[in-house]
Formats: sequence, C-alpha cells, structure tokens
Amino acid sequence: MRRPQPTEAKHRPFAKIKAACGIAKIRPAFQRSSTAAFIGLCAGNSMLVSCLFWIGVNLGLHSDLAAQKVSPLAKAPSWDWLASCAHTFKRSEFLQILNEHYAPGDAGAAHLRVTDDSVRVRTGPDQWTEVPFASETTPQTPGPARFWRKASELPAAPASRPLENLHIAIDPGHLGGDWAQMEARYFQIGKTQPVMEGDLTLQVARKLKPLLEAKGARVSMLRSSDEPVTPERPKSLRAAATADLSGNVNADRIRLHSELFFYRISEIRARAMAVNERLKPDLVVCLHFNAEEWGNPEDPQLIPRNHLHALVNGCYGARELEWDDVRAEMLEHLFARTAEEALPLNETLAEALAEVSGLPPFTYFSSNAKRIGEGPYVYARNLLANRLYKAPVVFLEPYVMNSSPVWKRVQMGDYRGLKSVDGESVPSILSEYASGVAQGLVRYYSTRREIKQTR
Ligand SMILES: [Zn+2]
Repeated sequence: MRRPQPTEAKHRPFAKIKAACGIAKIRPAFQRSSTAAFIGLCAGNSMLVSCLFWIGVNLGLHSDLAAQKVSPLAKAPSWDWLASCAHTFKRSEFLQILNEHYAPGDAGAAHLRVTDDSVRVRTGPDQWTEVPFASETTPQTPGPARFWRKASELPAAPASRPLENLHIAIDPGHLGGDWAQMEARYFQIGKTQPVMEGDLTLQVARKLKPLLEAKGARVSMLRSSDEPVTPERPKSLRAAATADLSGNVNADRIRLHSELFFYRISEIRARAMAVNERLKPDLVVCLHFNAEEWGNPEDPQLIPRNHLHALVNGCYGARELEWDDVRAEMLEHLFARTAEEALPLNETLAEALAEVSGLPPFTYFSSNAKRIGEGPYVYARNLLANRLYKAPVVFLEPYVMNSSPVWKRVQMGDYRGLKSVDGESVPSILSEYASGVAQGLVRYYSTRREIKQTR
C-alpha cells in the first residue's frame, strides 16, 4: 500500500468548480430568468462559465408541453411509480435522507411538502401526489421496482470468486479519438502524445474487465471504442440546440451548443437507455480522469496538484428540482434506496484507489457538491450519468491529467512491472487505476454478500 500524500493546500475555488470533469457535469438548473445569478455562481472560471452559458440560459423553458418543465432532450416523466412508494419510508428517515443526502438546504421545499404522515410531491404545475409514510400501524414496503440487486441480495459466492453472479457495467467516460477536441478532453504539449480523457478511460476499462471477470463478474462495457453510443450527431441536434438558445444567436454559438447537446447530453442519455432498458446491471462503474484548468490545449499549463474523489448521486439544487424529469429521477433514487448501496460502494472503491495511488482527497468549495459518508473522498453531486443510470453508480475521479506526475505517466503509456517516476517506482497508471477499482469491488462484495464456507 502506498501512503497517501499529505492533503494538499486548498485549491483556488475556480479549480474546484472545474474539477470532476467540471464542464462535463453541468448543473442543469439555470434558466433564462436566473442567468445573472448563475453567472455569479460560476464567476472565476471563464471556460466553465461559457460552457454553462451555452447550456444554461434556456433550459427547461422550451418543452413542447407547456405544462411540463423538462431538461434538454428529456421526456416528460411518468409519475405512476409513485404509487408503489406508499409506506416505503418512515417520516423521520425520509426527512433525514432528503435533507442530508438528496436536497440539502431545503432545496426541495417548493416541490415537496412534508406533512405529519405523508409527503406531497408536485407532479405538475397544479398537481400534487400524496405519498403516505410508514407508521406504527402500516408496515414498510420495499418501494419502486428495481432491476439491480444489493450485495446482500446476491446468492452466496465462493471466497475465491466474490463477484460471481454479479453484473457490472463499465462506463468509460467521454469518447476520445476524433471527438476528444470537440468534447474539450484533449491537450498536447509540443509534439508529445496528446492527452485524451476518453482514450484513457477506455484503456483502463479494457484492463479492468478481465480483472473483474477473473473474480466471477459478468461485465458489460457501455462503449468499446471511440464511437458514440448515440445515433445523433451535432448536425441532427442542431434544431433542438438552436431552439434552446436565445439572445445573440450566431453560427458559432449554434455549432457549440449542438456539439454540447451531442457529446454531453445525447451521448449520456443513450448510455442510460442501454443501462436501464437493455443491460440492467447491478452497478455501473463510471471511469474518469480529473483535470484542472489547463488553458490553451496546444500550450497547456501543468500543475503540481493531484487528487482523488468519487461522486454519489445527490445534492440537488432548488433550480434543478424545478424540472419535472430531474425531480422524478431524484425521488426514484430516494425511494429505491439507491444511495444505501451506492454510497458504501463509492467509499470502498475510493479508499482502494487511494491505497494504490497514494492520492489525497480533493476538496470542493462549490455548493453543488456535499461531502458525504465516513471517509474524505466521496461527495454527493447530481451528474447526468449518476442520475439517469437507475443502478447504483460509482463515479470515479482520480488523477489530475494536467498534473506533472500524471502527465509523465500518461506519456509512458502501458507497461508491465514498475518504472521510476520522480524517484518513485510505480506501475503504469492504467494498471494502477484498474487494479484499485478491482480491489475495491472485491473488498466490497467479499464483506457485504454471503460467502460460501468451504471445508
Ligand atoms: Zn471526465
């Protein structure tokens, strides 16, 4: 085990906002009427502000269904499943998970009204649905149907194969390849190897898959190449993107907004459809590399900072919860108790990654993330992927790609054994990442599911 380095000095606030693929995880909460407030929130990170501006200024206001307020490329939600949530939670535990995990700071107040014996959920502009709490006289119910299984619900496995009968989906973040520059997950120093997050995550996924299979898991890859999962392209999304814009709409803005709709929203929605309707795994492992502001991708800034964190779905903001689809997705996670599995999974995997990498925890200063759980590594944050995927999601953000040591290790590529980097013998960064994730999953399921006793 490598010893974690001392916690680094507090980073600049803008860097915090940028981190965790910052421009990737746009809070889908900003509406035309709140543009000024939203720009204030993001002040200090011009790249992030501009990206958020593209997506932010109009969201939620262009639904064809005037009565529905839905986020970009989303459908108006069905609320039928709420009927299955009657008596799932006692009042006190509902308030606890709502206030501490999903909607801190009373973020849900305008759309969720808690009475003595129920929660009333706004399911339309003038429509509320009442969900009664469990009580002394009404036994608790399991909540909405789910396809994924908790570790405790899996059949017993042999100690040597603790992932047996477990279906894991690996989601290599982003696209890479020819799309890397469009998705702003690309930089290059001189004539050295370009750094492309989507290529790195796919390489880690390819190393991780056989490690998990060797421990008995069934593994599905959400992508196996740098080709998009979505059949859409910026051109086919141009009309939707244009309709989402207002004000000074010029050709450049439409192009950038169409690209964002493609690689950010449509692509993740397509992966979510694969997870929820076809694969139905027990968990999804989203692989990412982190980054801080690197400036010009052709002349990027390398920095000394390097860190690790993981993200469990939660910490919704009041404006996000104004959207019917977002509110429905949050409540479905809450009532399905997804966080009860996702949080310890994230904690265990982050700890295992910290052990193999020696990385210190990252610290958020922005209000869209909240540190949660026992250890220092896991934050609750509402990302499109960890919200849309209905299974528990482990969302990993180790290694700052534009930190000097990570850049050096990326340049070294994959290799067997150890090599010296800055005087320290280390495995390839791809092997180290894959090994940390595999060790974390083995540890989690070895301790949380029944293990067959052998003579
Ligand atoms: Zn990423």
